[in-house]
Amino acid sequence: MNHTIAAYAAPSPKAPLEPTTVPRRELGEHDVLVDISFAGICHSDIHQVNAEWGEGMFPMVPGHEIAGVVTAVGSQVTRHTPGDRVGVGCFVDSCRDCGNCRAGLEQYCTGELGTVMTYNGVDRDGNPTYGGYARQVVVDESYALRIPDGLPLDEAAPLLCAGITVYSPLTRWGAGPGRRVAVVGLGGLGHMAVKIARAKGAEVTVLSQSLRKRDDGLRLGAEHYHATSDPATFEQLAGSFDLIVNTVSADLDLDAYLGLLRTDGALVQVGLPERPVPVSASALIGGRRTLAGSLIGGIAETQEMLDFCAEHGIGAEVEVIPAERINEAYQRVLASDVRYRFVIDTATI
Ligand code: NAP
Ligand code: ZN
Ligand code: ZN
Repeated sequence: MNHTIAAYAAPSPKAPLEPTTVPRRELGEHDVLVDISFAGICHSDIHQVNAEWGEGMFPMVPGHEIAGVVTAVGSQVTRHTPGDRVGVGCFVDSCRDCGNCRAGLEQYCTGELGTVMTYNGVDRDGNPTYGGYARQVVVDESYALRIPDGLPLDEAAPLLCAGITVYSPLTRWGAGPGRRVAVVGLGGLGHMAVKIARAKGAEVTVLSQSLRKRDDGLRLGAEHYHATSDPATFEQLAGSFDLIVNTVSADLDLDAYLGLLRTDGALVQVGLPERPVPVSASALIGGRRTLAGSLIGGIAETQEMLDFCAEHGIGAEVEVIPAERINEAYQRVLASDVRYRFVIDTATI
């Protein structure tokens, strides 16, 4: 038997979100019931509500940056107990058996089940998944992360997507002392990239459309800040960076950004443009450069990221809003007017 919980949903593609109720499965023996405290608004929520990544399933309850408290556990649960502070990120299950799942790369599950996304996905039981813009969520204990005590829940919520999405490539491509890292776009992902790259010891540069947020960028940990609207930026910084993390989903001239890499440098895409973006082979061949992509992170790495952030006192910069302001927040994200993550106080749902 399912129970019903209060949520905010988009009833159809591109429609404003409105209050509703959705079913949640009954607590299984390996499940935990989480009272959601905060849910971050990721730009991916907006892409999916607007059906920019395929048709999508509606009504859609977005939200994959979930922080809350465990209130009940199934009979076989060993990892969590009631009262634990936990987070749920972009996926809530995977096959657990394929090579990627076994390697802790559940986000790239190649098994028959595939990675079960937290919302706009299909669960093991065949039912649609509903995300974090809701009062509660039921999730398998293995897909709920422990939020360390030092991290406030509102600042922790965005780590579950924005945080891990930049932590993973920064780790894989060796952001650290002596390495020059550029972050393109100072939004939700970008501001976390600045904080995490700085904490890892890298020399950080922000490449933003304008100098409007320069003071914030420097305060968050960047040493340099440049406007990409100024063509001189691309001349001045040619051949500068070991790693560029591009968080922008708009079409950028990737060749121009590849030109900012040193020999053997890498440009990693995490922003997801709607259409293919052209790249000339010569921009890669010249400096033996790499163009790569990266999708969120696995469960173990997400836990590692949360522990790293707690150790370094890193949370997201958040603007906490009541649920009735979700649609307004979407408009502000689209206008690059976010500093630097909207987080829904789910008690207002
Ligand atoms: P966001 O908060 O809206 O930040 C994006 C930033 O991009 C903006 O703040 C802005 O920064 C810059 N930007 C926006 N429009 C631009 C344009 N026309 N030209 C150049 N720059 C522009 O979004 P987010 O939540 O960080 O997400 C960013 C992207 O990553 C989205 O596409 C999202 O779907 C994707 N994403 C991917 C993953 C993954 O696993 N790969 C995970 C989460 C999200 P400035 O004002 O500083 O220029
Ligand atoms: Zn996200
Ligand atoms: Zn798998």
